[in-house]
Amino acid sequence: MSELTHLTLAQARDALRSKKISATELTKAHLNAMEKARLLNCYITETPELALDQARQSDARLAEGNAGPLEGLPIGVKDLYCTKGVRTTAASRILDHFTPTYESTVSSNLMRDGAISLGKLNLDEFAMGSSNETSAFGPVVSPWRRRSDPEAKIVPGGSSGGSSAAVAAHLCLAATATDTGGSIRQPAAFTGTVGIKPTYGRCSRWGIVAFASSLDQAGPITRTVRDAAIMLRSMAGHDAKDTTSVDLPVSDYEKAVGQSVKGRRIGVPKEYRIEGMSPEILQFWDQGVAWLKDAGAEIVEISLPHTKYALPTYYIIAPAEASSNLARYDGVRYGLREAGRDIADMYEKTRAKGFGSEVRRRIMIGTYVLSAGYYDAYYVRAQKVRSLIKQDFDLAFAAGVDAVLTPATPSTAFAQGEQGSNDPVEMYLNDVFTVTVNMAGLPGIAVPGGCAANGLPLGLQLIGRPFEEETLFALASAIEQAAPKIEYPKPWWA
Ligand code: GLN
Repeated sequence: MSELTHLTLAQARDALRSKKISATELTKAHLNAMEKARLLNCYITETPELALDQARQSDARLAEGNAGPLEGLPIGVKDLYCTKGVRTTAASRILDHFTPTYESTVSSNLMRDGAISLGKLNLDEFAMGSSNETSAFGPVVSPWRRRSDPEAKIVPGGSSGGSSAAVAAHLCLAATATDTGGSIRQPAAFTGTVGIKPTYGRCSRWGIVAFASSLDQAGPITRTVRDAAIMLRSMAGHDAKDTTSVDLPVSDYEKAVGQSVKGRRIGVPKEYRIEGMSPEILQFWDQGVAWLKDAGAEIVEISLPHTKYALPTYYIIAPAEASSNLARYDGVRYGLREAGRDIADMYEKTRAKGFGSEVRRRIMIGTYVLSAGYYDAYYVRAQKVRSLIKQDFDLAFAAGVDAVLTPATPSTAFAQGEQGSNDPVEMYLNDVFTVTVNMAGLPGIAVPGGCAANGLPLGLQLIGRPFEEETLFALASAIEQAAPKIEYPKPWWA
């Protein structure tokens, strides 16, 4: 049974189509693995009955020869996606008992194509965090262990830490995730998985709990580049319900996997060599450059001069949008309500009890930078800097660069409690290589490149031109072929 969970999404798809396996047995194998992995805390809500019901329907469609592109493939859904009739928490107490009456467009696209949902995956509260430690449902434990102290609980990254850990621990074939400043790519890098944040507008945001609407994008986390391409094809597409979703045809991304990258121009930005970066990460980056060069790509040094402003600017814009998006949790319309003397008292008590400390911090920062007197000094200025960050990329692409290569994160994964407990900015630094991509609305993919001396995975990031996800899949698959194969941890938790 257990080897069924070790198939890639593509292998499972082919085995289902050729009737070597059934959707029901594949689903049961995953449900069984999930039951044994509760220690990792990947799922907030497991939906075994629903999954088995969907599996039966998939088997019927497979038998009829009427299968969708993802027919019978069990996946996990980040608990930020609203799912009809299934509790959706955003990992917050304020939404503890919220059961949506509608399905997000992206998850409904996946179901339309035949995917089976195993349940809802843990995350940082409202997707705010880089380690999954801000979840009101407890942190996710990464399946990975540090060579020197195997007892330390390693974080799976965040905010999509349930997604990354579940994929790395083989508790689903693939998972949905979201990325506002790095939440797909950083957890992918921390767990030796592949994660792509597509171009802003490629996937609909409708029905995904909003964090910072001008930055949020949906995308998949998978174990291979091919699997990410298969998932994205189903997730992407125009949606009239999201005015920022773009009406462009969705390509067959899988065709780009394994395509030659000969003659592609890869920009290596000198500003990403940040002070204090470990020699190991620098060396790993050089290795990535060498792999692409060997595959026939041309490497050019580029300059993205406004990079150093990306993180401070992000931590103005994202909280500003969050403070406004999270105003809707007022105890009236969704989830938790705490009784109060009057309506203002009820709002205050509900929000104080329902939101965790990181979410409250973001709301306070956001309210501050949007307040009269500070709006121009912070928010408007940050928007101007955001344009300059985007312009840096535009200039590089105009000069003929096809994609930019950087490390995905400045370090390997750390252990719970090791970062940010005294200074939140320490945690924010995790996103130093990823936030620029959201600020510019570009597609970015994280692909594993092997493991560091401490035994933990390292990821490379490729950033592409708008709507040229295919280029990223081709380049990422060249890296995947050249890099040492990721050996996912044996299930010590089971
Ligand atoms: N880690 C970043 C933050 O805390 C990004 C989160 C995300 O992409 N959702 O805001």
